[in-house]
This record gives sequence, structure tokens and C-alpha cells, in this order.
Amino acid sequence: MTQAHVLGFPHIGAQRELKQALEQFWRGDIDENALAQTGAQLRRTHWQWQRQAGLDSVAVGDFAWYDQMLNTAVLLGALPRRFGFDAATLTVRQYFELARGNAAQAALEMTKWFDTNYHYLVPELDADSTFAGGVDWLFYEIDEARSQGHCARPVLIGPLTFLYLSKSRAVAFDKLDLLPQVQAAYARILQKLAARGVQWVQIDEPILALDLPPAWLDAFAPVYRDLGSAGVKLLLATYFEDVSEHAGLLAGLNVAGVHLDLVRAPQQLDVFLPQWPADKVLSLGVVDGRNIWANDLAATLVLLRRARQPLGARLWLGSSCSLLHSPVDLAHENQLDAELRSWLAFARQKLDEIAVLKQGLLDGAAAIATPLAASQRAQTAWRNSPRIHQPAVQARVRALRDADSRRNLPYPQRQPLQQAWLQLPPLPTTTIGSFPQTSAIRSARAAFKRGELDAAAYQSAMQAEIERAVRKQEALGLDVLVHGEAERNDMVEYFGEQLAGFAFTRNGWVQSYGSRCVKPPILLGDVSRPQPMTVAWSAYAQSLTVRPMKGMLTGPVTILQWSFVRSDIPRSEITLQIALAIRDEVADLEQAGIRVIQIDEPAFREGLPLKRRDWSRYLEWAGRAFRVSASGVDDATQIHTHMCYSEFNDILPAIAAMDADVITIETSRSDMALLRGFGDFAYPNEIGPGVYDIHSPRVPAVAEMLRLIAKAQAVVPVERLWINPDCGLKTRGWPETEAALRNMLQATREARAAL
Ligand code: GLN
Ligand code: ZN
Repeated sequence: MTQAHVLGFPHIGAQRELKQALEQFWRGDIDENALAQTGAQLRRTHWQWQRQAGLDSVAVGDFAWYDQMLNTAVLLGALPRRFGFDAATLTVRQYFELARGNAAQAALEMTKWFDTNYHYLVPELDADSTFAGGVDWLFYEIDEARSQGHCARPVLIGPLTFLYLSKSRAVAFDKLDLLPQVQAAYARILQKLAARGVQWVQIDEPILALDLPPAWLDAFAPVYRDLGSAGVKLLLATYFEDVSEHAGLLAGLNVAGVHLDLVRAPQQLDVFLPQWPADKVLSLGVVDGRNIWANDLAATLVLLRRARQPLGARLWLGSSCSLLHSPVDLAHENQLDAELRSWLAFARQKLDEIAVLKQGLLDGAAAIATPLAASQRAQTAWRNSPRIHQPAVQARVRALRDADSRRNLPYPQRQPLQQAWLQLPPLPTTTIGSFPQTSAIRSARAAFKRGELDAAAYQSAMQAEIERAVRKQEALGLDVLVHGEAERNDMVEYFGEQLAGFAFTRNGWVQSYGSRCVKPPILLGDVSRPQPMTVAWSAYAQSLTVRPMKGMLTGPVTILQWSFVRSDIPRSEITLQIALAIRDEVADLEQAGIRVIQIDEPAFREGLPLKRRDWSRYLEWAGRAFRVSASGVDDATQIHTHMCYSEFNDILPAIAAMDADVITIETSRSDMALLRGFGDFAYPNEIGPGVYDIHSPRVPAVAEMLRLIAKAQAVVPVERLWINPDCGLKTRGWPETEAALRNMLQATREARAAL
């Protein structure tokens, strides 16, 4: 029978209930019981929603106190030995110590889940790791779902994905050596589920979306030959990329079904359909789990009907991936106008879309006439709306010429023009932009937003903060100053709020990691800049000092990466639209006398596609967009960019091709190791490797920074080396900020004296 399902549901809660409960529990304000109740209540609600919408089963095991990857590790009993915990008796408190660290041990490392903004905890395995089983939370939750009358479909991260994404802190070993044990552990779990009468288990193997080494690909058939015989039906889920190249492998696996992400890669259908075996389910992910746009029901029905021909009841339909990456419920967004709301669907609305699609598929379009008509109305309005389509913006992108993405002169000739007026000492010092966002700043902004503080009062409060930051920087002796970004809530939201083409939700939170959520802006239409966004603040800051003031902007790639973006035009084109808006801002800053301008691109690397074959195309358009934003200025104007902690080595040519005069990067925690690649590559322009970690209040000593400066000097010629912290200082307090910068400047003076 055709089944409708979702691969997982966000567990944070429509009002971020889990976040609140977790943070209260960590502070000691509530006990474990109260926390457990919140979790149970959320699961109950989310299952109810899935069933009420009309789905055939509910996802169980997608709930995690912190992270689903950590849940898998504690289910398998594979805990890092350094914590000394017994997996079988692990407590919730110990679970949080694994996630957050304790007095003796650092937390498990955290990293991005594929190309999403969700971060998972990286399981730590060693050659002698054991997988003898751990906590029984999954089984408990299955019983819980069933006691509430649901058809429970457990959701597991698959053994190969679990192993592939894990890491070892000790000497390197071949993780595949652990596979037999991991496989046996999964077999035991599946047998236990079978014994409970579970029919279907969803097993996620998203690593199939990556460039997998042959040994890992070869492991699929034997592993699933075994697991597929454990007594439950396996639905092997792929998502985030085209897995067409593995169609033969997947068709031959001993599993009862396979799930494809047709939102990301609709072309897969034509590869899979002709060769799909008659005894296997093909589950089609047709409702986007990662974006907020309402489904075009009519178009999706056409696609589903095509698959129904050959598949019949073996066709399932669902979300493209887990809905974890969507905000929870559009019903709370009552400040958005009706038209905009009709274009959107959050996780809860996506449940309805999936159920409606199933009904339309089985009973015919007439059975879903009302939602179908509403969907068509919304699609038509959207296609014709001036909110979305601005011919002038599109024309400007089309008219871009090669010269628009190039400075007039190459860097070696720009450098003396810049130095002629900047007159910077060797090893010039600067900071990355933000200074402490004190509670006074935040409450002034909140009062302004509530209407309790008028615009003039807000402006003078922020100007006072800017002046304070300028005076402190002068007193410290920094060479290139910043205004401190007091007026900015967030580096993307601040620009999105001022650009045409964006909308903002009140509650559109998406889990980033643990209890942390982000609320990405919605980039819905062609982007343009009605008026200058930062010029007044920067010009005010410059008016306070004779030292050069660095203008501060967020780059086009980062604005794209950290927003929910429209899916009707290519990302490359959207990014060029943003780039043109930033280019105008850069020009206005220059006009206003700001002649050092930083365009932050911390998300540049995270935009890389999952498959290497797609990298060069991305790097090409992303780099071009950056250059479009940066190249409209005089050669004497100095363009900076900044990137946070990233693996740069494999993309250095692309970073160099961005052609910023100065790049500042985060390097202190890697002990300058990250910088070595820049040296080996002979990175041609100026670099400011961070000399101190801004993520903790710790004040590094002069000697410590001097040592890092010396390491940097060994790699970068001194005339191209800057001295700065790793990143912005907005999360720090003033006392440690001033103390650390004082030491940084002292270290710089000593390094200069030794030149
Ligand atoms: N200019 C920003 C700041 O200083 C850069 C932040 C970032 O790189 N994430 O806060
Ligand atoms: Zn940074």
C-alpha cells in the first residue's frame, strides 16, 4: 500500500520548548523529571500532528535531547573511553557531559551535517571501541508511540553513515575494521525491534550523497544482506544529493525499499524507475524538508502519477529529508500578510501537503480540489508578483560584464596606492568588526523595536557606543579601526532587513545544534537596495577619528547561505543580485570617505557542494559574486574580507581569486597550522591570521601571541602580514576584550622591534 511519511520531524518545539527546558535543566532550575516531561509532551504533539494530517506512520527516534548522532552512539554503546561512562547505565546528565563537556573532558567535536546548518556531534571511535549496546531510549519511545495508538516507524542513522562520519582522536586506523562489530550491533537492534512487532524501519545512509571511496561503497551489499534479514523491513533513505550513480547498487540491496530526495535531484526518477525491482518500495521525497516554500501540488502530482504507473502500491511519498531543517509551524506567523503566508509551508504544513498529495494520487485530483485550487492560486500570484520579480534587478544582473568583477589594477599595483595614503606601520593591527554586544545595547534595541525608544534616542545610544569603541581603540593603539557593529542584531538579518526582497518570521526557528536555534531570513524576491544601509554609522565613526575607519559589510555568499532562499532561479543568480546591492553600498561608503572596506564571507566554504565534481562551478560563481561586490572601487581603496574557521587548503586558488587586498582568517586554535597552506600556495595578497581565540573570555599572554606572530612570519612575508584576533568580539565582555587587545598590541610592538 502506498504510504505517506516524513523522514523526521523537528524536535525543538514550535515555541522552542525543548530549548527552554534544556537550558533550565542545565542551570539547575528544573529537574530531570520536568525535562523528561517536556520531551514526552513534544513527542506526543509531533506524533499527533503526523497522524492527524493523515500520514501512515510516525517517525520515532528522531527525537534527541541534544543530537541524533550522539543518540546513535549511546544506543550502540559506543562511548569515548576518556569519559569513563558505562553505556548501559548512562544517565541523562552524562549524556549532556558528552555533548557539552565537563570539568575534566572536552565535549565531543561538533561539525556540520552535510551541507545543512545543523551541527552533529562527531562520534569518537578507536580501534578497541565496543558496540555492546547502550541506553534503551529508542525502545522506550517506540512503546510510548504505540501506547498512543500510532504506527511507529523507527528512524536510525545507518551503520555506514555512522561509521563514516565518526572520527578517532588517537592514531589513525581504518574505521572499516570496526564494521563487523557495528553491523552486529545494528542487527541486534533490528532484531529487538522485530521482536516488538515493528514492521518498517527507516535507516538513513546519507553518505551515499558524498564521493565515497570504493571500499565504503562495496560495504553496502554485505552489510545490508545481513541487516535486511533481521526480521524488519528496511527503508534505506538517501537525501541531499543525486544518488543515480548508485541506482544499480541500491536496486540490488537486500532492503525492502529506498528513499530518494527528488527535491534536490528530480532527475533521479528517470534513472531509478526503469530498473526498479518489482519487490521493492521506492519512496519519493517530493516535499522540501529544507526550505519553507509551499509545494506546487499540481506539478508534484504530475510527477507522482508518472511514478505510479510502473510502481503501483510500491510508490511511497514523503518529505525530501527530515523536516529537522524546517521551522515548525506557520500558524504562529500572524504578522506576515496573507499573500506571503500562502506561499509558505513550515514542517507542520508540510505534513498536510504530503497527506493531500497522497490523497490526490490515489483518489484523483477532484478529491483534493480545494487545496489544489489554493495551491494553484498561490503559484500564479507568486509567478506574477512584483514582490518577487523586479525587471530592473534582473536586467542589471544580465548587463554585468567581465570588467565588473575585476579591480582596475592587479594587487601588486594597488598595494602602493593604498599604502601611500594609509601609511600603516609594518604588521598593521585591526579587529574583525564587532565589539561587545553589551546588555545595554541589546536592551536599547529591544526597547526601540517595541516602540519604547524613539529613533533619535536609539541612534544616539548607538552613537555613544560607537564613540566608546573608537576611543578605546585609539587608546589601545590599533591602526585600522572599526565602528563596532553595535547597531547590528545579526550580520545577515541586519542587511536583510534593509534590502528589498527579504521577509522575516517571528518564530521560524531551526535547530543549529543542541539547544541553539537560528532564524534565517526569507529571501523571497529579487534583491535590491532601496537606500544606504551602513553609511551613516560608518561616516559617524570616521568623523570621530583621524585613523582609517574600516567599513563593515556582509558578503553576498554569506547572505545567501544563511537565508531561506527562493528556488525558482539559480543560487548563482540570487547571489549576483545581492552582490550588486553590496557593490552599491561599497561605492557609497567610498564616497563618504570610508576607504577601507571589509566584506565578510564566513560562509564561503560552507557553500561548497557535497560532490567534488560540482566544486569548481560553485567556486567560480561564488568568487565572481564576491568580486562583483568588491570591484566597483578605486584601486587605492582597500578591500578586506574575513572568513571564520575553515579548511582552506583545497580551495586556496579560489580564495586567492577573490582578490581581496587583505583576508583575515581564524587560525589561533589550529596553532597557525591553517596558515601553512597559504604559505605553501604562496597566497599573493595580504593576510591577517588570527592571533587569539575569541571564543572564550581567556586573555592570552603577550608571549603566547608573540609565538603565533613568529609562526606567521615564517610563512607570510612581513610586508603582507596583519595582526588581528580570530573573529568578531561581540560575544565577549569589555574587560577581557581590552586586556586581550592590549596584549595583542604589546606583542605587535615587540615583533616590530625585532624586525
Ligand atoms: N564582522 C563580523 C564580526 O566581527 C564577522 C563575524 C563572522 O565572521 N562571523 O562580528
Ligand atoms: Zn569570523
